[in-house]
Amino acid sequence: MPAPEQWAFHIAAVAEALSRRPDIRQLYIDIACRIRATLLAELQKLTEGAQALLLEETVEQLRVMVPWMHGFDHSMACQKEFSGLYQERAGRHAGGEQMEWIWARGKPLFLLARYMTPARWWDTINAFLAFLTRQLQAELPGVLEKRLAGIDKTMMLLLRRSRS
Ligand SMILES: [Zn+2]
Repeated sequence: MPAPEQWAFHIAAVAEALSRRPDIRQLYIDIACRIRATLLAELQKLTEGAQALLLEETVEQLRVMVPWMHGFDHSMACQKEFSGLYQERAGRHAGGEQMEWIWARGKPLFLLARYMTPARWWDTINAFLAFLTRQLQAELPGVLEKRLAGIDKTMMLLLRRSRS
């Protein structure tokens, strides 16, 4: 059963991201096939007026797609229309799960956001994205270290094979 706020949190989060990064052209979201029309209409409203949050061209050029892996759970007709796998210029190396990863980290917050006023959502999502950025920055060295260890391991294995 849909919650009373429907897609409000998704729309607020996407709008906030686009206001900070108007160069974003690809948006992957698991529910793209259900939310695309509503999302684009709501984002379009945010381009209007003197206090517009978003640029018109940002919204016009935004492509809303279902991540490939998640897309396999949808019908073939849906995949052809929404999966990044079947879209031109979708980026062959981007599976689209990055956004899901952000939603997953924000889940406890989004559960609380249900009880906040829309004005509070903006502040909260803003703070969440800042927190997430700091968290990513802190995690990055560890991720790179792991990657390097993996490359080292592969190189040693290849070296051993070439000698035998
Ligand atoms: Zn679908």
